[in-house]
Amino acid sequence: MDDPILHTSSTFNPQVIAAIQERAELGRYMIRGFGAFRNVPRLDDLVFLTASMTRLPLEGYREKCDTRTVLGTRFAKRPMELEIPITVAGMSFGALSKNAKVALGQAATWLGTSTTTGDGGMLPAERDASAKLVYQCLPSRYGFNPKDLKKADAIEIVIGQGAKPGGGGLLMGQKVNAVVAGMRTLPEGVDQRSPSRHPDWIGPDDLRIKIEELREATDWEIPIYIKMGATRVKDDVKLAVKAGADVIVLDGMEGGTAATQSIFQEHSGIPTLPALVQAVEALKEIGVYGEVQLVISGGIRSGPDVAKALALGADAVSIGTSALIAMGCNKPVYIEDYQALGTEPYHCHHCHTGRCPVGITTQDEDLMARLPIEEASTHVANYLQSMVMEAQSLARSCGKSSVHNLEREDLVALTLEASAMAKLPLAGTDFILGQS
Ligand code: SF4
Repeated sequence: MDDPILHTSSTFNPQVIAAIQERAELGRYMIRGFGAFRNVPRLDDLVFLTASMTRLPLEGYREKCDTRTVLGTRFAKRPMELEIPITVAGMSFGALSKNAKVALGQAATWLGTSTTTGDGGMLPAERDASAKLVYQCLPSRYGFNPKDLKKADAIEIVIGQGAKPGGGGLLMGQKVNAVVAGMRTLPEGVDQRSPSRHPDWIGPDDLRIKIEELREATDWEIPIYIKMGATRVKDDVKLAVKAGADVIVLDGMEGGTAATQSIFQEHSGIPTLPALVQAVEALKEIGVYGEVQLVISGGIRSGPDVAKALALGADAVSIGTSALIAMGCNKPVYIEDYQALGTEPYHCHHCHTGRCPVGITTQDEDLMARLPIEEASTHVANYLQSMVMEAQSLARSCGKSSVHNLEREDLVALTLEASAMAKLPLAGTDFILGQS
């Protein structure tokens, strides 16, 4: 007999069926790590118009292409001076192992850039490893210590993040060991839910007061960043600037997390591409573009992503998930441990379980031992270096002596969606969807 023809419903496809039946078993929403699985318009949908007859490229072996980046020039006496336009995003000790945090700090130091704390406070070993450390002030205030403000090179007030804008943090009890619990002054082994908004302010006017307090506490020395998940970008950026931000950090929906409700990852926020474009427009509309710097994050993976983000107007990018992948996330080793989680290498998104097969998002000593700090640092540093070289190559090919000289005019869109979102012409045409 012939094989039966298998019909698949696009509404009730196998993944939807599995998700319904999983929730039917559990009686609650699903929690997972990583970022959005859905396909969204992204920086891949843009290409550079590199030099030909109308532009002269720079010679890669003789002519320099500068990557120096300065953040926080608005009010801080001591802005953040970086060698490269790529920073490491905030990820908590608790979500990440100590080895992972230290490796990120060390790699960032080698490349002359910054890394960032996360919920749960400043890990002393991370401070020691990081020449430039951004100290986050989160809604939970877990582990937040005013004395650590003095040790920071910048402060980042977290309003939200791209994977879960409007939602609070989660740290499942299996990752809350004695050290993590101690830093957060919370019980060991119990799920920790961080609030979704700050306890001491309900609007931009209160935020202005909070920023002034932090400036006074740090003698106006260091920059204050405001990090947001990308939703109503234009208004949010303008309000953050009005509240006194030196730097806006904007995280698109492709941004990752160690744990959140999957509904946030798939059904909230907007992609990094349109978020970036709207943020630049907002800064220009209120006359602070160049005075208030913009860091964009959420799905940044390569030198071309970096170069395109800068061409669209960002001052720097920030990476999280891709840095973890560089140090071994989803690497095809310890296969049986991925399988024990119900997954396989290249498909793992199980950071919330605390059983990370490669020792990155775990507090289990045996698993963490799989992540030697020197090796992990080297991999992250190599990855950062390669991204910088790729971005420089593209900038030189566009005739730019600095990656910060890349501009919108260097880009075109490959799809109608990207044309509309980036407000760039469709390749080979003068047509901009929504404007022509
Ligand atoms: S390999 Fe580890 S860090 Fe990567 S997704 Fe799986 S649990 Fe998370």
